[in-house]
Amino acid sequence: MENSKKLGEILSRIDGRGFKAYKDIKGRYGFKSFTLFIDHVQGDPYSNPSRIRVRVQRSRTGFGPELTSNPSRTIAFCDFLTRRFYRNCQRFAKQERGIGKSGLVTIDRPQQEILERSAMVVDQHHVEARFFMGLPAFGRKISGRNARVMFFDELPRIVDHSMFLSSLDLNEIRGHIEVAEDADLLRYKLDSLGLVGFVADGSLLPRASGIDSRPLGKGTVVPFSSPESFRVTVDLPNRGEVAGLGIPKGVTLILGGGYHGKSTLLSALELGVYNHVPGDGRELAVSTPGTFKIRAADGRSIEKTDISPFINNLPFGKDTKAFSTANASGSTSQAAAISEAMEAGATTLLLDEDTCATNFMVRDVLMQQLVAKENEPITPFVDRVKQLHRERGISTVLVMGGSGDYFAVADQVIQMTNYAPLDVSEKARTIVETHDTGRRNEAGGELGKIRLRIPVKKSFNPSGREGRQRIKNQGDRAIVFGNTLIDLWDLEQIVHTSQTRAMGRAIFHAMQYMDGKRTLKQVIARVDKDLDEQGLDILMPFVVGDHARFRPLELAAAINRMRTLRMIQQQD
Ligand code: ADP
Ligand code: MG
Repeated sequence: MENSKKLGEILSRIDGRGFKAYKDIKGRYGFKSFTLFIDHVQGDPYSNPSRIRVRVQRSRTGFGPELTSNPSRTIAFCDFLTRRFYRNCQRFAKQERGIGKSGLVTIDRPQQEILERSAMVVDQHHVEARFFMGLPAFGRKISGRNARVMFFDELPRIVDHSMFLSSLDLNEIRGHIEVAEDADLLRYKLDSLGLVGFVADGSLLPRASGIDSRPLGKGTVVPFSSPESFRVTVDLPNRGEVAGLGIPKGVTLILGGGYHGKSTLLSALELGVYNHVPGDGRELAVSTPGTFKIRAADGRSIEKTDISPFINNLPFGKDTKAFSTANASGSTSQAAAISEAMEAGATTLLLDEDTCATNFMVRDVLMQQLVAKENEPITPFVDRVKQLHRERGISTVLVMGGSGDYFAVADQVIQMTNYAPLDVSEKARTIVETHDTGRRNEAGGELGKIRLRIPVKKSFNPSGREGRQRIKNQGDRAIVFGNTLIDLWDLEQIVHTSQTRAMGRAIFHAMQYMDGKRTLKQVIARVDKDLDEQGLDILMPFVVGDHARFRPLELAAAINRMRTLRMIQQQD
């Protein structure tokens, strides 16, 4: 390891030279309070910024062992430090020091969710931040003077204010960690409480806007309050006793007039698989880890998915036990999404009428009379949703203000009125008992087991032009894998670009487990196990700071959306 003086010397020497001379600063340097790693130097001022790390001895930080005494706390603690680091980059770095990315100092920016990330790693021995710097240049000539300010003035300030207890508020750190720990515990408690979701009284669910996931301004929000009949009280290690709406297993119907908060409640459950930062409003709105949002996504590709529980007798005798298409319809995409979610291990399905295919959801009595069952390939979801629970143990939470046919199959019915949930289960039951619509159930027989699939490794090709590996994300909802674009626009439970980026790498990592025998679920489970045991760093041959943990369910869904995908179906 070099002394930091050495870095200063190199910067003076290469000042004014062509940008490529920056390569000379690659290496490891000892600073007063930290070690600096310059891992990768950008090729020019406009390309991706340089990858930098700072490592501090844990013993010098003042961070006690209680901050990292379990995985839940460690993740939240790292999240806290990352947020602080980001803010201090904004505060202490000038950010603009020439052309292109010159002057940039930044770290992967967390949003409302607390995720495991590669941006900050804390273990017994070290605290390590992985971040990005745009090395400064004017007209593609190195600005050694600006670089010196960045490395010797701005960076030490950022580090000192973000990675040492002496400049942080321990109570604030504890608050952050305890919120996450409570949410994790609550989430894992749900199953034994017979619940699929919980929304604490006082939660603030609505978001600032459709593109801004921060909370809606306080004064205008109706805080969540549970109806007595669904009220559950839980005891959490940090918060103590908390009351809220407990959503039982089975089939739950959420209905109510338009604009009364139905979709907002469902979205909270969708993202209730993640922990949220203090002040978010959804800190204690949680759902079981296997909760998966289902929606129609016409146009997507499907590879040998068994959609026969929902769709049969397609025109031209097309096989629905192994259904493939390059261009799914709304209803077939939704049927596939459910079968694939079951295959990947989802335990709760969420559906919102706003994003469902109507003909997949309902077929009312008048339609049954005009179009005979023989001429309708679809068995509507209303006739399968109870079986999903009874036969497969999969619960459903469904927003449906448009059809009363679901009354007959719902275990509980919640009405949203002016953003407040009411229990109308009894009312709905009475209506069903006193109004026989004459509608016939069309399910006829068991749901049956869906067939599992084995991914074919050679259908995965990470090579782009000239055989060079090409794996990257395109925003937060698409992955470029070799010459294939995997479109993830319909996966609403992806919350951060860094999850998408990591998923691209994870698909590559998964390939080693595709041996022609393992099913997709088994392959995904291996990847998840590797990430649990070895962390996000195993996804890359070198250290990167912009990967975030994703769920196995999303990884399976991403693979299912890859247009080159080939599968072999396991025969029963
Ligand atoms: P629905 O699905 O019933 O039509 P939404 O859930 O889309 O209704 O909510 C309608 C609007 O009301 C949205 O703009 C949402 O942000 C807002 N909203 C939802 N819940 C609340 C609340 N508790 N307090 C204030 N506004 C809310
Ligand atoms: Mg809605």
